[in-house]
Amino acid sequence: MLEKDIERILVSEKEITHICQRLGAKITHDYHGKTPIIIGLLKGCMPFMAELIKYIDLYCEIELMGVSSYHGGIQSSSDVKITKDLETSVHDRDILIAEDIVDTGKTLDVISKLLIHRGARSVEVVTLLDKPAGRIVEFTPKYIGTTIPKEFVVGFGLDYNELYRNLPYVGVLKPEVYKKN
Ligand code: 5GP
Repeated sequence: MLEKDIERILVSEKEITHICQRLGAKITHDYHGKTPIIIGLLKGCMPFMAELIKYIDLYCEIELMGVSSYHGGIQSSSDVKITKDLETSVHDRDILIAEDIVDTGKTLDVISKLLIHRGARSVEVVTLLDKPAGRIVEFTPKYIGTTIPKEFVVGFGLDYNELYRNLPYVGVLKPEVYKKN
């Protein structure tokens, strides 16, 4: 049913599994001997984080933080709002932020700086998707699933007006869907 609104699939379900296996193995290797806190940025991180952590073979903690920057449309807005803060201290901890997509880079720039300010020992980012052509702030995530062109995508956690997060793949929405609104 949702598929009728999708112009084309950019990252298939199978590709997402392979990406998570590859990133999970790399993270397991890099954090050997450490107990990182993996912080997912809600709501987009949910399916990606759930898939990724299956392949991370480490003692690690999982936390969630609510962050909003799109406010419903298809353009990233300049103000990054924390809608749900962490319930644990990051002081002296190795932090890995799990994000669905990096576009302008503002969200991760703000959140990474905030966690460093709160005393984190290290802060790195793992993102399913990277859209480098959208960058406004210089920011390079350490772990990238795949790079995509500057297009508005939905699925696997990514929404348009809170819909389409439940698609099992990442796709491009037909322009008529958002032109309608
Ligand atoms: P940034 O701060 O890097 O511009 O944006 C990060 C956030 O913007 C992401 O977590 C995501 O919520 C949203 N975002 C950026 N690009 C897209 C996109 O193509 N589709 C959707 N649905 N959200 C996006």
